[in-house]
Amino acid sequence: MDTLEPIKEITDIIKENGGASFQFCYQCGICDVVCPWNRVRDFSMRRIVRQATFGLTDIEQEDIWRCTTCGTCPQRCPRGVNQIEVGVSLRRIANEYDVFPESVAPVITAGGSLMAEGNPFNMERDKRGDWAEGLGLKTFTEGTEFLYYTGCYFSYDPRMKKVAVATAKILDQAGVDFGILGAREVCCGESIRKTGNEEAFKSLAKENIKTFIDHGVKKILVSSPHCYHTFTNEYPEFNAIFEIVHMSEFLCELLDTGRLQSTKAFEKKVTYHDPCYLGRHNGIFDAPRAVLKHVLGTEVTEMADYRENSLCCGGGGGRIWMETPKGERFADLRLQQAIDVGAEVLVTSCPYCITNFTDSSLGLEDGQVLEIKDITEIVQEVM
Ligand code: SF4
Ligand code: SF4
Repeated sequence: MDTLEPIKEITDIIKENGGASFQFCYQCGICDVVCPWNRVRDFSMRRIVRQATFGLTDIEQEDIWRCTTCGTCPQRCPRGVNQIEVGVSLRRIANEYDVFPESVAPVITAGGSLMAEGNPFNMERDKRGDWAEGLGLKTFTEGTEFLYYTGCYFSYDPRMKKVAVATAKILDQAGVDFGILGAREVCCGESIRKTGNEEAFKSLAKENIKTFIDHGVKKILVSSPHCYHTFTNEYPEFNAIFEIVHMSEFLCELLDTGRLQSTKAFEKKVTYHDPCYLGRHNGIFDAPRAVLKHVLGTEVTEMADYRENSLCCGGGGGRIWMETPKGERFADLRLQQAIDVGAEVLVTSCPYCITNFTDSSLGLEDGQVLEIKDITEIVQEVM
């Protein structure tokens, strides 16, 4: 085993980086039993925690980059170990020493692009607001009720831009007072932080917070659970407190209060996928289901793994930027679960889930058809 640092130093660095709970592990192995990786290949978070306990972590090993931070094992650990913090701490050490396996190269590229352009795609910063061209949206100014913080995927990704447009049209139709900041927003920084690049996260977070404060932002509406998570749970570390609303919650409110009304029925059979960062990490399970009940007129059909037990799409923790070989993609399993319950549409509310599910849907067998949609698009279809 190639241990780069003396025992004491590694354990101390993990503790300093918030991963101190690894000391309580008694090696029961529950984390390995519940981890989605073990449905597709061998992977042991228990072993990573064990190695960390003795300062024997091989920082060059690919396994420290595997955790998608899905949140399943921390919620089940009988000793209160936060395996995500342990894993992120190890990645911070890898960042500090500039030690990365080849498979992690896309994360380095994404980090460079985030620092240069404020997005992970190496797209021009100035083009961030182009998705809204022709929609007549107003730029957020002080006194506007909501900032619609669009986020990177919804601003640049051709598939996800359609969701941003659907969102803007729905908000407009419901008479919501909102504006966007276009090129003045940068990535929320959630995923790059989970890759251990704390410097990039802090830089992005500070830039956004300054922009929000300078513009008098108080309420922020987001489409991505990753933005929701980091604005709600991580920006307060900088004493920046805003009211954050995820679009699935807001759609629920708009439908409940009659500001939005469906004018036709949605005929296809639908199932709903709980994104890790909306459900497990932030407890938003009911709002999207209530929205779908409004639209469908019945309870949504549930897959084998749902709510707290939802199966991760594989995109968290920076894995969205990394290549996962065929045969190891959780999204393939999730699509099969949707097909098994007879769903024609797999609905979710996260850009990473939609990206991974859409990729997986290209590999479906002949005769298998499954549409992948954001919950906003479903609502738009019945307006
Ligand atoms: S579930 Fe908790 S106590 Fe059990 S092996 Fe994993 S980290 Fe250790
Ligand atoms: S957080 Fe999820 S992906 Fe990471 S080790 Fe735990 S169960 Fe596995």
